[in-house]
Amino acid sequence: MVNKHRAFGESIAKRMAADDGPLFQCRQCGKCCSSLRSSASIGPYEFGLALLPFEKNLFPSEDISPYEAMRLKGTKPRGIFSYQLKKEICPKLNNSNCTIYTSRPLACRKYPINYLMVTEKGGIRISVDTVSCPEAQPNNTFPAEMIAAAAEDLSRSNSAWSKAGIMYDLKSESWVPAKKVRDLQQTLLDRLSITEQRK
Ligand code: SF4
Ligand code: SF4
Repeated sequence: MVNKHRAFGESIAKRMAADDGPLFQCRQCGKCCSSLRSSASIGPYEFGLALLPFEKNLFPSEDISPYEAMRLKGTKPRGIFSYQLKKEICPKLNNSNCTIYTSRPLACRKYPINYLMVTEKGGIRISVDTVSCPEAQPNNTFPAEMIAAAAEDLSRSNSAWSKAGIMYDLKSESWVPAKKVRDLQQTLLDRLSITEQRK
């Protein structure tokens, strides 16, 4: 059965199928897979590749850390619902190729789309990582699977953000308030994001 997040992703991908513009083409340079922590750093905080609970099993357990949780009880996190890869260079990268390509995490399937949002008027806005990916352009169109992954990520994030009270910072190796991180993320996206409004 297709879950609601995936169904949302597929519906957005259908709406964007008629777009024109140069099609994004990954040249498999491996840059995005070898700068995972540095590209996910936000202000004083450092994070890794975000992973859904079942995706953490793709990697050795010693490379995994919790990412988002509901709250702290004493020093213990309660309600962990996402994880992150601690490595700067992905252990699944081999000569610029992903060795788990068909089962790679959602965060990898949507890249170089930073985020996709649906505006109040029903338009679709996307932000593309033109800073780290040498092939990404703001007016790119993207393969349907990539749009679907970005929209699925949006759907999952919307439900996760309402739950996340704390996030695990790899730099200080401590839990930090999720709101502080979100505020910084928003500031960064407003400054860096190259957005394209689609009807
Ligand atoms: S940085 Fe861009 S071009 Fe290079 S592997 Fe990643 S997505 Fe492909
Ligand atoms: S899982 Fe594959 S696509 Fe994702 S970061 Fe690792 S090598 Fe890159």
